[in-house]
Amino acid sequence: MNNEQLKIPQATAKRLPLYYRFLKNLHASGKQRVSSAELSDAVKVDSATIRRDFSYFGALGKKGYGYNVNYLLSFFRKTLDQDEITEVALVGVGNLGTAFLNYNFTKNNNTKIVMAFDVDKAKVGAKVGGVPVYHLDELEERLHDEISVAILTVPAHVAQAITDRLVKKGIKGILNFTPARLNVPDNIRVHHIDLAIELQSLVYFLKNYPSK
Ligand code: ATP
Repeated sequence: MNNEQLKIPQATAKRLPLYYRFLKNLHASGKQRVSSAELSDAVKVDSATIRRDFSYFGALGKKGYGYNVNYLLSFFRKTLDQDEITEVALVGVGNLGTAFLNYNFTKNNNTKIVMAFDVDKAKVGAKVGGVPVYHLDELEERLHDEISVAILTVPAHVAQAITDRLVKKGIKGILNFTPARLNVPDNIRVHHIDLAIELQSLVYFLKNYPSK
């Protein structure tokens, strides 16, 4: 993330990877321009929001023309630091952790899980999806300055203690897949994805707001 992006509202910044992925596909299929309506349809964000988001990037769509795909792509590439690979550590090589290691995100963006940790003897020492699994005891020794992000896929009751160690070692961002609410200092960013809650909330909305 560079300074330019700091001026962009957080809600907009969160949508950047979504726009970026779609625009890359458009570019690959040879399209030069795209309208906010087309984008809206593809990324499921309403077109007024898209126009407002894009105005922060200095991209002003022209009526009857739309947006220049190359301009947007070069903006996103710069803003999202796509030329640089962000190295990530994962803690907890259970069912979910194993799935992430096998998937490893490389198709869609430049983040890469480079090491994993667990306490289970059966998992430590192995490679999963090409990624080495180390014992949690080696966390401090193995983590290095290039790794600023961690994914947590451990049982909830150990999440806070592991978080404290990650923060102490200099991790700046945590993607938390455990149900635990994590306490971290203000300069650390936690994104919480509780899949059970998301699913429950989807079912609730389907039941209570069936038409939309
Ligand atoms: P599995 O079926 O492999 O146990 P799971 O996702 O259902 O997977 P969980 O109990 O959620 O199992 O544990 C996820 C992973 O976290 C497991 O691989 C477990 O060994 C690991 N784990 C448990 N405690 C710790 C810890 N303190 N530090 C690191 N990893 C841990």
